[in-house]
Amino acid sequence: MTSTSLPHANVFTPNHYNGRNGYTVDHITLHIMVGTLSGTDTVFMNPNYRASSHYGIGGNGDIHQYVDEDNGSWADGDMASDCSGITIEHEGGSPSIRCTDACVEASAQLCADISRRYNLGFLKHDGLNGNVYLHREVPGTDHAGCPDLAPNGLPVDRVLARANEILTGQEIQPIKEEDMPLNAFVRLGDEPGICYFDGCGLRSVDHPDEMEAVNIIARETEGKDLPLVSVGSPEAPYHARLLGLLQREYR
Ligand SMILES: [Zn+2]
Repeated sequence: MTSTSLPHANVFTPNHYNGRNGYTVDHITLHIMVGTLSGTDTVFMNPNYRASSHYGIGGNGDIHQYVDEDNGSWADGDMASDCSGITIEHEGGSPSIRCTDACVEASAQLCADISRRYNLGFLKHDGLNGNVYLHREVPGTDHAGCPDLAPNGLPVDRVLARANEILTGQEIQPIKEEDMPLNAFVRLGDEPGICYFDGCGLRSVDHPDEMEAVNIIARETEGKDLPLVSVGSPEAPYHARLLGLLQREYR
């Protein structure tokens, strides 16, 4: 019996190959349930469905193991892929069932664990040339959206980036306040218009859409909009000097 070293529950199914038909594990295949973990439990326990995967991950990050890793699962619809892969189902894939951050994190942990135990190295999706397959790319599949193209599908790039981060042992730390670049929108004294200060120089912002475009990036990278600061008041003694300094950069 071969299992992940991560905490998990066993929900065994009769639906699987016995052994791996001489294949060894060289990849992971990612799937989306188009449903929930509990619904998947029910389907896989039923011999009439003739379907399974090694693992399923719920929206709360729970991991269920359905098939011993020593056996091929009935997941990819292709004997060679099933017998040479570890298959993972994920909760989500429909408009009403989200693929959650907890599911993505658990998937990344599980993929990293599988890579370590089978010596797969860094995880890479590249059709059937990488060591991570998407079900929709396996020959003979009829699951065109599985796992990433379904509504609320699996964000594959995020899973693999996070898994590789775990494998390097160098987890990306959240940016500390003092490390943050000094980025801001700046209103200069009484000057009309707004500039963007990128930490080195000023650029004029000619349209509110440009401000929004910068803020879209800021929200992605720093989780919030850039502050809009007003620099210089005519009463302040440093006003003229500060304005001159900033205006030398201004174009
Ligand atoms: Zn699938």
